[in-house]
Amino acid sequence: MRMILIGPPGAGKGTQAHNLVKRYQIPHISTGDMFRSAVKAGTELGRQAEAYMKAGDLVPDELVIAMVIERLGQPDCEGGFMLDGFPRTRPQAEALEGALDNAGLSLDAVVLIEVADQLIEERITGRRSDPETGTIYHLKYNPPPAGVADRVVQRGDDTSEACKARLTKYHDDTAPVIPFYEGKGLLVRIHGVGSPDEVLLRITTALKALQSHSAS
Ligand code: ADP
Ligand code: ADP
Repeated sequence: MRMILIGPPGAGKGTQAHNLVKRYQIPHISTGDMFRSAVKAGTELGRQAEAYMKAGDLVPDELVIAMVIERLGQPDCEGGFMLDGFPRTRPQAEALEGALDNAGLSLDAVVLIEVADQLIEERITGRRSDPETGTIYHLKYNPPPAGVADRVVQRGDDTSEACKARLTKYHDDTAPVIPFYEGKGLLVRIHGVGSPDEVLLRITTALKALQSHSAS
């Protein structure tokens, strides 16, 4: 399974990816996580990406594209992959298509998780993660259990200000990726409101339907 998860910031991509990669036994490639690791490790890439991330801006295409193409060339991606947070611009989508074409490969599905703008800020500002396991929590919707609650951390870009900037970027730069995949018959639209388990069921049901449709 070669698939993409796309959607506004806070739509639940990371939450859903966590379950989907277990189910499909594919690596989870989150460009946001890769950049956060690079920043933490103090690499040259991290240094270049950090200011853009803090401001809620997109990291320039050439840096993101090079990082993702390199990652997709690693052996664990031979049987498929889940891209989370990439592509986020039309040039990124075109670069990915070119790289897959060159390798004689194609995508199976692009899952768009849809959540209305009014719900995004609450999701983003309430997000916390466990630095030990990477598990994503929400102060209201999925509170961390006792024993974990005192060690959860908030992302530096999960402020209301950076959230607004990211949402604007999403509409300006990422939304144009949607018709690109819709035109190829790969897009699956998923309603992202409801419990994470309900959203997961919607995704797996839609993917099954897509697979049986493409097999017939
Ligand atoms: P969210 O979970 O809010 O959707 P991510 O964790 O995917 O955010 O990304 C965090 C930040 O990393 C983005 O705001 C952006 O600065 C940078 N980033 C991640 N993926 C990309 C990408 N494909 N293109 C450009 N910038 C990216
Ligand atoms: P993204 O990767 O798209 O930015 P996350 O998976 O990190 O989104 O989710 C953003 C926040 O919303 C997290 O705090 C997460 O616990 C919470 N969340 C995820 N899915 C749901 C859901 N279906 N209902 C309510 N909150 C959710």
